[in-house]
Amino acid sequence: MTFCEFVTAAFRAMFDAFGPQHWWPGESDFEIAVGAILTQNTSWQNVEKAIENLKKRGVLSVEGILSLEDGELASLIRPAGYFNVKAGRLKNFVAWLKEMGGFETLRKLPTYRLREYLLEIKGIGPETADSILLYALSRPIFVVDAYTRRILARHGLDEAMKMDYDDLRRRVESCFEPDPRIFNELHALLVKTGKEFCRKRGPLCEKCPLNGLRIG
Ligand code: SF4
Repeated sequence: MTFCEFVTAAFRAMFDAFGPQHWWPGESDFEIAVGAILTQNTSWQNVEKAIENLKKRGVLSVEGILSLEDGELASLIRPAGYFNVKAGRLKNFVAWLKEMGGFETLRKLPTYRLREYLLEIKGIGPETADSILLYALSRPIFVVDAYTRRILARHGLDEAMKMDYDDLRRRVESCFEPDPRIFNELHALLVKTGKEFCRKRGPLCEKCPLNGLRIG
């Protein structure tokens, strides 16, 4: 099957097997964006603990985070790992958000201008920027992550592990209508499949909904 036939068939198979994933967990746009920054290289459970610490302390807000000393912020988000680096990233993002005029202003900006702005923030890479665009701002952007690459590579797209982030993102996006609901669900389902079946070592193909689907 072609690349797009594979991606659309995979989407259907995963959705049939797992149903809607209800991503992204978070009570506000701001909380989703904070989660997107904290989740790099750690499990979601650890992110939840860090966010819970910020909530308990009453600082899960632009002003709240800016009011904290760097060390204090780092200690609150410690459960998310790389806490000094992530504290810096969080501060950079929040300072930028304040300067921009908050989410209300962001909502009025075209997707790709917003994406450029996000990528200019120190420490925000494409995966984090796209997670914010898709899950906090409902923009039709597909988030490429390690699970996406691994699954595509194992299903016949040999270059998937090394492909340029944006080339791969655009390739997946070209297979669907530009609908954020589709990209929201597709990314969440790929993460679910990656975690439960497509493990780095020892993929559990026999029980996986993608078994039998192949590009080419
Ligand atoms: S576990 Fe096997 S069938 Fe499932 S996505 Fe990975 S390689 Fe494909």
